[in-house]
Amino acid sequence: MSDENEREIPVTNEIQSYLHCILCLNELPEGQSPGDYARIAVGYTELGIQIWCRRHDCNIMHMDFEGKSPFPANLNRRLFDPVEVAEKLMEPSDA
Ligand SMILES: [Zn+2]
Repeated sequence: MSDENEREIPVTNEIQSYLHCILCLNELPEGQSPGDYARIAVGYTELGIQIWCRRHDCNIMHMDFEGKSPFPANLNRRLFDPVEVAEKLMEPSDA
């Protein structure tokens, strides 16, 4: 049973704007997407959560939770329906 103030945290990709290392973007090889080129580490810190560029060994973002943790989080992985995956693989590609 969930509290009415508690909202569901989806395990699907809900990212509306990706975060990138500016150094990676500046040297991005032609034809490669920023997401494919990225070498990112993400983890908890004493302050909150940090996104780190492993290629350039530099900070991308360090978010301070301002001591308000714990924040609600969903650490579950999406479970794929094997039939849905098979159907997707059978779809004609646009590329
Ligand atoms: Zn980088």
